[in-house]
This record gives sequence, C-alpha cells and structure tokens, in this order.
Amino acid sequence: MAKSKSGKPQPLMLDDRDHRFAAEENPFEAMMYRFDDAATRLNLEPGLYKVLREPEKQIIVSVPVLRDNGEIEVYTGFRVLHNRSRGPAKGGIRFDLAVSLDEVKALAAWMTWKCAVVNLPFGGGKGGVICDPSSMSDREIERMTRRYTSAIIETLGPESDVPAPDVNTNERVMAWIMDTYSMHKRHTVTGVVTGKPVAMGGSLGRKDATGRGCLVVTLCALAKKKMSAEGATVAVQGFGNVGSTAARLMAEAGMKIIAVSDKSGGAYNPKGLDVAGCLKWTGGGKLLNNYKKGERVTNEELLTLKCDVLVPAALENVITSKNADQIQAKIICEGANGPTTARADAILDQKGVYVIPDILANAGGVTVSYFEWVQDRGGYFWDERTVNERLEKIMKESFNEVAAMAGEHKVSMRIGAYMVAISRVAAMHRMRGVYA
Ligand code: GLU
Repeated sequence: MAKSKSGKPQPLMLDDRDHRFAAEENPFEAMMYRFDDAATRLNLEPGLYKVLREPEKQIIVSVPVLRDNGEIEVYTGFRVLHNRSRGPAKGGIRFDLAVSLDEVKALAAWMTWKCAVVNLPFGGGKGGVICDPSSMSDREIERMTRRYTSAIIETLGPESDVPAPDVNTNERVMAWIMDTYSMHKRHTVTGVVTGKPVAMGGSLGRKDATGRGCLVVTLCALAKKKMSAEGATVAVQGFGNVGSTAARLMAEAGMKIIAVSDKSGGAYNPKGLDVAGCLKWTGGGKLLNNYKKGERVTNEELLTLKCDVLVPAALENVITSKNADQIQAKIICEGANGPTTARADAILDQKGVYVIPDILANAGGVTVSYFEWVQDRGGYFWDERTVNERLEKIMKESFNEVAAMAGEHKVSMRIGAYMVAISRVAAMHRMRGVYA
C-alpha cells in the first residue's frame, strides 16, 4: 500500500513503472489495482489487507474424459474459493479455452466483492475448465461436467461452495452437477448449485436476473444524469444470456437498441433494431453479422458508436487504453465481468463517462441465485413477481449505497463499489478475528 511521508496511506496512481500497467489485460492485476485503491482509501489495516488479497483455496484438477471416438482427452479444471467469511463461496463455472488460473482467481475475488456490494451472505468463488465446448458433443460435455464435479466434490455443498452458470455453461450443466453431487451424498441436494432448471429447484426469474439487474441500475444512472429512459440509445456487445436479456428488457422499458453483436460481429441501426427479430434470428442458430435489418458492425466498432448507454456483456478486457478515448457512450453498464481494464478506467473517468461497475451492474444474477438457494433450503418457492420485486429493491438500494460512497469520497462508482464491498467483508473479519 502506498504511504505518504506522514505515514497516511495515499490512493494509488497507476504510472508506467507500475507492473500492473504492463499487465493491463491480466484480470487478476486489474482486480487487484481497484482493490488496492479502495483498500488504501479505507485505511484498511495491513493485516486484513494481506488476508483479503489472497484466495482462501485454489484447486487444480485433471479431468479425463472419454470422447465419443473412444479416445481419452484430459482437461484442466480449476475451482478457486476467494473468501468465505460472509458465507458459502458463490460463483459460476465456465467452460472456455481462455480459462486460466489467474482468470479464475480474479473472477473468484470479483464474486466476493459482488456478493458484498449487494449484501448477500456469501463469499466468492469461481471455477472453470479449459476446453472448447463448441467442438464437443452433449454427451462429452456431460461426462466432463460429472468428472470435474467429482474432482472438486470436497469443496462443494450448500454450506460451503455453490456454483452457478457462467460463460458456456447453463441450466443443463447445473442439473448434471446437482445430480453428480447428490449421487455421492446418497440423497438429493438441490441447494448445491443455482441456475438449475425451474422444475428441479431452480428459481423463477433466475435466467433473466442478470439482464434485469442491468436494466434496474441503468435506469438509476439515467435518472442520476437527468437523462430520459424513453428513447435513450443503447449498444449491447454480446448476445448471450446477459446481453440478449438486457437488450430485450431495455427495449421494453422504452429505450432504443441501436446495435447488438455476438462473437461474429453485429448489426447497427441508428433508428433502432427490432430486438424480438434479433432474438428470433439468433434463436434459429444464426449469427448476428448476417442479420439483414441493420448495417454490419464489428465488435470493436460497436464499442465506440455514438449512444447514450453502452452495455459490454461479453468477455473481459474489451475496453482498454487502446479504445477508451474513442468511447462515445455517456453511461457504461458492465454486464460482463471485467470488461474494462484499470488503465481504461482512468481515461473514462477523465472523459466523464459514468461507469456502472461489473460488481454492481451484473450482480442481479447472483442476487437471484441467492433467492434460489434460500428457496431450496426452505423448500418453499416464490412467484416470479416476488422474485423480480425483491431483485429490483436490492439493486436500487445497492446502487444508492455505492453512489453515496462514491460521492462521499469523490471517487468513481467503481472505486465506490469496491469500498462498500471491502468494508463489509473487513467488518466480518474484524468481528470473527483470526482463528489460531
Ligand atoms: N456467473 C455469474 C456471475 O458472474 C453468476 C454467479 C452466481 O449466480 O453464483 O455473477
């Protein structure tokens, strides 16, 4: 932690000598930079600072899988539990070629801060397997999921570590995890994962929850900036579960979706796209760069379009020092985890772009995961309206708490969110003390 001559911690400033500048696209360093900044401003005790920087547990497993052609492939899987002081570790599992231990560590820590920002009784965890699911059959993905689950089974459990869907995983994958875990336990344990099919203990509203949360906080930001939601122009990067739901709900709320994209690129229409038409197109397995009712845009072009709201809802590191100064959006709602690098943050701040940070903007998903876990444990299920109302309440309150913290300390919403989160986790550690 940087200290001034008086010994008082000073907020960190990135400069070219800082190794985190060189490692702009390392998500763990990006997360740590924000953590360091917020922790310093909070005057966090050095001991606690050391505790919160390190993940509690990191598991690396080999996952042998019998391919359909009879050959055996061995995949590498990870599960990282960052911090469980406030409750069980919570966080998704992703299947992707870009998965690495550094990425999973960053994502696990982000989950700790995300759960704390919205004040859920959870810590943070994340998992992943390095694989290309698009080149695997459903049976192969099922075998890989079950073997990975059995490899990390000691950490799993409704009271210790509760996975959920993430990049390239879905409710089917959650059903396989739940079944594998339950077979080992010799009884059905629905609360071991969230994001399950509704018919097997999932929650109504979970699928739309992340996108719905993005809508709620975007409306809060528009109101704060005294901008009207009606007709506000929106560009959405990523048309998976988060991006497509955010686009649909924002269009329903009267906003004008002018661009959407998937990994192939996207479609742009300054007069507004028909989101239902885009959903029909992609639902039929087609890619958005071939969508006929709009001009083609690349993913890079989409980010710098003139619009009121930009929703990066795909992967990490899409807004970097290379393109941040070309961003024209007034508000960025981070549907993805880690779409903006620390270096880009500084540029966006200078330009006055209002960034609703990932750990707040996309916390709707884990909030309804929490509702699912509560419903599974109680064995009593809520209707969708109740779920959505409770989600909206938590998202609005959290937005206001973060905005208040940011205002009080004259920092960005991102650093404000980290400050809210770190102070909640730190308070728990102080009360619990250090077990010896
Ligand atoms: N993977 C989602 C996230 O990054 C959801 C996590 C959860 O519901 O546990 O927030």
